[in-house]
Amino acid sequence: MAFSQPLRPIPDDETLRRHLAGADVPALLLTVAHLTGDTALLRDDLRAPGWLFQPQGGLTAARQDEARRLAFEALTAWRDRGGTHEPPDPALLRTITTWAMGSDTGDLLDLLAEEIALPQDDPKAPGWTLEGLRPGADLDVAVIGAGFSGLLAAHRLGQAGVPVVVYEKNEDVGGTWFENTYPGCRTDVASHLYNYSFAPRADWPDHFCRRDTVLEYLRDFAKESGVADRIRFGTEVRELRWDERERRWHLTLDGPGGPRTVTHRMVISAVGQLNRPQLPAVDGLGSFTGPAFHSAAWDHTADLTGKRVAVVGTGASAYQIVPELAGAASEVVVFQRNPPWLRPTPHYHQPLSGSTSWLCEHLPYYAQWYRFWLFAPGLRGILDGWIVDRGHPPTERAVSALNEQLRASLLQAMEAQLTDAPELREKVVPRYPVGAKRVLRDDGTWLATLKRDDVTLVTAPVERETPRGLVADGEEFEVDVIVYATGFQASRFLTPMKVTGERGVDLHTHWGGAPRAHLGISVPGFPNLFCLYGPNTNLVGQGGSIVYFSECATRYVLDAIRLLLTRYAEAVQVREDVHDDYNAWVDAASADRAWVWSKVSGWYKDGSRSSTNWPFSAAEYWTRTRRADPEHLRLR
Ligand code: NAP
Repeated sequence: MAFSQPLRPIPDDETLRRHLAGADVPALLLTVAHLTGDTALLRDDLRAPGWLFQPQGGLTAARQDEARRLAFEALTAWRDRGGTHEPPDPALLRTITTWAMGSDTGDLLDLLAEEIALPQDDPKAPGWTLEGLRPGADLDVAVIGAGFSGLLAAHRLGQAGVPVVVYEKNEDVGGTWFENTYPGCRTDVASHLYNYSFAPRADWPDHFCRRDTVLEYLRDFAKESGVADRIRFGTEVRELRWDERERRWHLTLDGPGGPRTVTHRMVISAVGQLNRPQLPAVDGLGSFTGPAFHSAAWDHTADLTGKRVAVVGTGASAYQIVPELAGAASEVVVFQRNPPWLRPTPHYHQPLSGSTSWLCEHLPYYAQWYRFWLFAPGLRGILDGWIVDRGHPPTERAVSALNEQLRASLLQAMEAQLTDAPELREKVVPRYPVGAKRVLRDDGTWLATLKRDDVTLVTAPVERETPRGLVADGEEFEVDVIVYATGFQASRFLTPMKVTGERGVDLHTHWGGAPRAHLGISVPGFPNLFCLYGPNTNLVGQGGSIVYFSECATRYVLDAIRLLLTRYAEAVQVREDVHDDYNAWVDAASADRAWVWSKVSGWYKDGSRSSTNWPFSAAEYWTRTRRADPEHLRLR
């Protein structure tokens, strides 16, 4: 796969017409208005109510046809005038995006201009080089992890000409996408959002890409960007120790040839939040005599065909696994503590039309507007539904009037699937507010699977593992295989690494079980150490993705390094008061979000606070990470 291929010419009218038939109509209208500068196309009757949240914007077939016809006429005329294209000027960008979002986008224009940039313009690129700023500076960076964030950081450092080594514990790139090989594994973020903004893939085969496709993307990216050459595979970082005299980190590595120590001026941890599996704390764990494994460590030697399989959990992993096992196994027993809320996504398992890739490859800016269209719901709107209204008053049913509305619409969609199985309703309708746990994308597969005769839903927590199976609510369920889809140690950031900062302070002791960082990136007392996908950077159900957050955080890190170079410093860290004020702000907001307020369990919180989730909009994170503010940093 080659990234950022030059656009190809539109061959003929018939081909264009054919592919417009497969276009995503809202993205098409936005593209045409941009290319032609003619905003007359942005008519009220071509924008349905609530359209941001519906496939094809919820437009009727007749409206879609009308939009395509108008687009065809406008595009052929534009092509015949020479087919030139430029980035939209701010006024045009504001008009188009305000129409699309249904509210004024004046405050978002800089962010949106980045979204509508062509990949080669790469506005988040560092824009400086080590050679240009401080030739010969003693600077080198270790990146820990070669998943989405680590590859990105290494690429950005490479663009800036900063020497970088990536230490990766696995034998391949991909991180979570390498490790999770369970059947049915795929994204629940739209494919075209789930790639780097500057390295879009035009030909994603599915609306929500499968695990192998994501992994292939990351492998290709590592190879084409040259980052692959900088990775030391099979090398786990066990320990980081700050040396104040040298102002460098000492890293203890375990890899080919055994343990060794290396030093680097800076370290970027890109180890992910959802990396270290969490097995349930139940009695008798390990006593089962058959195969038993975690979803993220799938045992492919275990043949599940015709077997009785227990799946523990009903989170995002189990949700993808169970439908794959049903029918192949003789029986699947699903152990559920809390059912998931389901968000209608009829195209969840569907392939993208070939026209999407054709349009991305032939129509300037279609790819960017299509991505904007996928991203737009995350810019405004969704977050409001998760905010607690103390006056409502909030309950475990709903935390606000808007949250109640969301509940009603999700419930309606579930109930429509349960008319033939009313007995299931009590079991599958959540008793916690929407947004308190991850909302899963639904095309009917999950409930259809639970209705099967060969699938049993047990609505009691697993209490015990036995040699024969699992015990829940006092009853033993005998099975042949156990799959623990019980999630990850999300709140235990940077574990199991031992990290010792200034004055010998241990990071995990310092955190005391409540990890915090400024912007999820830096912790006072730990100079020259940056985290990607660090504390409070998980974007909750807002349409964006962690790839976007990693791009924002990496830009900030590169900017902090730029400051270090320009100020002739050797160490940089966030000021303690800035860090503390920031975290007070995050914690106060988090307390008023459905996931912290609700009593339901899950990885979105740890006790009474969340160290995983970002409680604001994606735009807020973009704004705060756009530049590293020298006033916020201690440079020495
Ligand atoms: P998870 O969301 O933490 O789910 C773990 C499940 O195990 C929960 O249903 C939990 O119940 C259950 N559980 C734990 N102990 C149990 C016990 N003793 N008895 C019965 N059930 C028990 O983990 P996950 O499904 O691996 O997903 C984690 C995150 O990874 C997701 O939220 C998502 O961000 C990411 N992910 C994404 C995708 C994707 O589609 N892109 C796929 C997989 C994972 P409770 O709900 O009661 O706690």
